Amino acid sequence: MSALLEVSGVSKTFDGFKAINNLSFSVNEPELRAIIGPNGAGKTTFMDLVTGKTRPDSGEIRYGELSRDLTKLSEARIAQAGIGRKFQKPTVFEDQTVSENLTMALKATRNPVTVLTKRPDESDRVADLAARVGLSDTLEQRAGILSHGQKQWLEIGMLLAQEPRLLLVDEPAAGMTSAERERTTAMLVEAAKTRAVVVIEHDMEFVRRLNCRVTVLHEGSVLAEGSLDHVCADPRVIDVYLGR
Ligand code: ADP
Repeated sequence: MSALLEVSGVSKTFDGFKAINNLSFSVNEPELRAIIGPNGAGKTTFMDLVTGKTRPDSGEIRYGELSRDLTKLSEARIAQAGIGRKFQKPTVFEDQTVSENLTMALKATRNPVTVLTKRPDESDRVADLAARVGLSDTLEQRAGILSHGQKQWLEIGMLLAQEPRLLLVDEPAAGMTSAERERTTAMLVEAAKTRAVVVIEHDMEFVRRLNCRVTVLHEGSVLAEGSLDHVCADPRVIDVYLGR
């Protein structure tokens, strides 16, 4: 286990408001990490900064063995470097089947050589991806008729098709039934065995099930970090987040 992502002294101001304030923390590989914190704490902005959607005013975000500074790379280069992001709302091709969605994602892989030819094991890979996200029985169904939870899983499958080293996931459990939440937990735990998975989540029961290290953000900085029990016992966390 080693640091894959090192955020050092990052700040970002929007119209005079410090959304991210001298933020420093790191994520290992492999690792499952949850980021929690009140609304406006800077969680989404953190993901925007890592993926290059937003540029910081100062600080560095180092990634991988070469310690490349992501703040100097384009969004496309960051994605090619193996960073995938799942937004809260699922974005799948509704008119295509589950299988076609996964196939498209495989073709969009960051290795250009594999895009040119249909790989002989493509259908095996689609079946494997579908199994990893609990969609083996729906391969020939149109994505548009899937439940909200299934669409979220399909999108996770499409991201896994690209074999990210770092997967950023924004509130995966929102709008899910408790059975769907449980399956989502298992999926993320499994995915994080071989990569870094960072999850923003408000649902504390869901975070508890993830059973991972938790980083609490507040006013753009790390307020506390550790196990969920550890951070929940921290009076500062109770004051700004839990005690409301
Ligand atoms: P969280 O995801 O923890 O709820 P955000 O990262 O979305 O927090 O937002 C942090 C703060 O930065 C908020 O006060 C928000 O209004 C502000 N903010 C985020 N993005 C922008 C933007 N593009 N322009 C202006 N203010 C922004």
